[in-house]
Amino acid sequence: REPLKNLDTESVLALDRQHVWHPYGPMPNTAEPLVVESASGVRLRLAKPAYGHRELVDAMSSWWSAIHGYNHPVLNEAAHDQLGRMSHVMFGGLTHEPAVRLAKRLADLAPGDLEHVFLSDSGSVSVEVAIKMCLQYWRSAGRPEKRRLMTWRGGYHGDTWQPMSVCDPEGGMHHLWSGALPPQVFADAPPSGFEAEPDEGYLAHLHDTVERHAHELAAVVVEPVVQGAGGMRFHSPAYVRALREACDAHGVLLVLDEIATGFGRTGELFAAEHAGVTPDVMCVGKALTGGYVSMAATLCTPRVARGISRGEVPVLAHGPTFMGNPLASALACASLDLLLSQDWRARVRRIGDGLRAGLAPAAALPGVVDVSVLGAIGVVRLDHEVDVAAATRAAVRAGVWVRPFRDMVYAMPPYVTGDADVARIAAAVCAASSARAGSARA
Ligand code: PLP
Repeated sequence: REPLKNLDTESVLALDRQHVWHPYGPMPNTAEPLVVESASGVRLRLAKPAYGHRELVDAMSSWWSAIHGYNHPVLNEAAHDQLGRMSHVMFGGLTHEPAVRLAKRLADLAPGDLEHVFLSDSGSVSVEVAIKMCLQYWRSAGRPEKRRLMTWRGGYHGDTWQPMSVCDPEGGMHHLWSGALPPQVFADAPPSGFEAEPDEGYLAHLHDTVERHAHELAAVVVEPVVQGAGGMRFHSPAYVRALREACDAHGVLLVLDEIATGFGRTGELFAAEHAGVTPDVMCVGKALTGGYVSMAATLCTPRVARGISRGEVPVLAHGPTFMGNPLASALACASLDLLLSQDWRARVRRIGDGLRAGLAPAAALPGVVDVSVLGAIGVVRLDHEVDVAAATRAAVRAGVWVRPFRDMVYAMPPYVTGDADVARIAAAVCAASSARAGSARA
């Protein structure tokens, strides 16, 4: 019962096994995680060397959030400065400059007239809020029967209840709950290929599905251009445009989930810009604070906000305790300022070029079916499930941190990753892609 301090690595691992639940992990905990002592730039420093490496180049940006790398002096200063004022105050009845500044910044940067901003604390919650906005919009309009959602297969929108209902229902992470989740409408997954000619048959399928279900649909909820955690597939912006047109034609709201794609990852500030589309509601998270602390936001147009305010309950009935957290807001403002003060497009392009060159040899590896790069995302797809332990080991041997899943190994490095580190990441992804359980390479 003594307070614990300065645990050695073995104690951290033992207590981790005994007490700590990891994402998608079992309990008792059988994971064998690496212990991270600190992180700086694009490097994670381990408490204990792994395959001779005390530091690993991070190819994951901590699940796509740490776009500026770690321990950045500008973000550190913003955090210290805000901590000296207040780290948190409630947002009911009070407001503060960091949250207001952030909302204005997001409204200015977002496509079209997405000018109202609801600040929450995680991507999943921002999707919950988006869905609630849409259902409430129709309820306020006297159309409570419009409460289903349409999405396409292969998507991922988070781990809370309504977002789970619009995740991929079969191959995805939430198939355990099929039957218990609200029954939604699923269109086929978009054909792969960002630059592929749009498939006319698929465009018609999207339009027909919206039209057929419009009477009961509150909204279409999709990830634009990149389906991320549901399978890491890129598709033509034409399909996002088609959804916008179908939603307009048949009276359905469009929600774009930019939690993975927002803030430059695909080469545009928001992936919706590839399609030239403004959604009715947009979700952002992950890179919003440069990966420093958890924060997300749901933006909507005046039409949606006005619609809600005309209802019998004229408020959006949602208010997380940590809503508009000042520390997170200050970090988000600093992260956006930092991003926009640089030629981030050139950086993203350069990382994409490096990944394209470095991953090209993977196409010839046995079991590799596809290599694709968009913005600062590189994906090697296999014809089999990845052996995560073997693939991770192979990458760590090459001095790189990756976290493969399902049938792919991918990289989404911080935008500050230099050319040599991008090459190293690509080589590690190739090594991980050919690693098999028990193989010499692993
Ligand atoms: N939506 C998308 C597109 C995501 O990629 C994720 C997370 O990977 C989420 C929502 C959920 O965000 P969070 O993990 O912050 O709840």
